[in-house]
Amino acid sequence: MPVKTIIEPFRIKSVEPIRWTTRAQREQLLKAAHYNLFLLHADDVLIDLLTDSGTGAMSTHQWAAVMEGDESYAGSRSFDRFRSSVQDIVGYTHVIPTHQGRAAERILFGVACKKGDVVPNNTHFDTTRANVEFVGAEAVDLLIPEGRQPSLSYPFKGNMDVAALEALIARVGRERVPLVMLTVTNNSGGGQPVSMENVRAVSAVCKRHNIPLYFDACRFAENAWFIKLREPGYEGKTPKEIAQEMFRYGDGCTMSAKKDGMANIGGFLCTNNDILAQQEKDLLILTEGYPTYGGLAGRDLEAIAIGIQEALQEDYLRYRIASTAYLGNHISAGGVPIVQPPGGHAIYIDARAFLPHIPSEQFPGVALAAELYLEGGIRSVEIGTLMFAGAAQMDLVRLAMPRRVYTQSHVDYLVEVILEVYRKRESIKGMRLTYEAPFLRHFTAHLEPH
Ligand SMILES: *Cc1c(COP(=O)(O)O)cnc(C)c1O
Repeated sequence: MPVKTIIEPFRIKSVEPIRWTTRAQREQLLKAAHYNLFLLHADDVLIDLLTDSGTGAMSTHQWAAVMEGDESYAGSRSFDRFRSSVQDIVGYTHVIPTHQGRAAERILFGVACKKGDVVPNNTHFDTTRANVEFVGAEAVDLLIPEGRQPSLSYPFKGNMDVAALEALIARVGRERVPLVMLTVTNNSGGGQPVSMENVRAVSAVCKRHNIPLYFDACRFAENAWFIKLREPGYEGKTPKEIAQEMFRYGDGCTMSAKKDGMANIGGFLCTNNDILAQQEKDLLILTEGYPTYGGLAGRDLEAIAIGIQEALQEDYLRYRIASTAYLGNHISAGGVPIVQPPGGHAIYIDARAFLPHIPSEQFPGVALAAELYLEGGIRSVEIGTLMFAGAAQMDLVRLAMPRRVYTQSHVDYLVEVILEVYRKRESIKGMRLTYEAPFLRHFTAHLEPH
């Protein structure tokens, strides 16, 4: 019989110790951090699932490439390698490096959008929404209804509602829609994938109205893996072939290389539009740096050039998606309500269902995240009323899995802690805001228990 156990497809060459704290210490630390886990010291966290962004482990190939970094200001060899590797996957004419994803967003929306415009997306990520709104445009989420029901299992819950897209364009007029965006996978909507069929349908609507289609491509490799697993006709294709096909339906993308770029920093912006690319490069020089480094060191460009290809390797993706699902399936079997099915990079606990006695204006997601820290030193993040205020359709707690960092025994520990908190759920209290910033308030907000 073939062996069925899926193992980590790597061995460990360098280790980083993690630090235990006592519950009494964590109570003090949490209070000092105003119940906002962003304000904790990372040293006081045992297992850090705040984000999968920039927290991954690089491979020996990436570290070797770091030494090959060419730090020339203009025309560096590292840029050429970076551009060829990115173009090999996305196929777009212009590849503009940026220091991370939000810089790509800032430049794209700064150049392509103006006040009064409307930008449709399946679900805008927080920085994407903030950058659209910063130029005075409106960010509209057009997720399919299935994507808004956390407990419903559906293979492509990240899909865009194509009829709603048509209706929006008809209502506001084509001139007010500078571009359409598809986020793959849908981070704020549970890490759920978008099907190739949906990409094709959205692309067809965009072409009919002559509107460019951009991908928020942060997790393009995980999305490709889900298409391979779940969409008829793609079983025999490689993740790379699937990703290449997807990008062909669009006109450009924004990317955070801190996700499926498998790097600790970096991002890029791609487009097929020569005029837009020129304006983007002008703005890049103003705010990020020269177009052959875009705010990154040559060594970072090298790490991304290799990482973005490693993210598409089948043994890596098989392990990656299996380990996330392992966490989700085990807590779900213990009764914990999660967004079903498990996403690619994270498990999302449905905090409204977990804590039905806490109304959303008392931030059930924040309360649950605080309790997971108290119980086991786990850091997670609320994606809900604190992050999106009135626009929040759900109150979720995201447990994001860093790439190639934690092993199965870490995940077994997480399962135990989460189930313990679930047993005590009725004693958890709601939260009240005591300080908030005018935008992206979740990063710096202060709270206290009710
Ligand atoms: C992380 C992320 C971004 C922003 O990228 P940063 O590198 O954090 O600036 C944009 N969109 C999505 C879907 C993301 O997950």
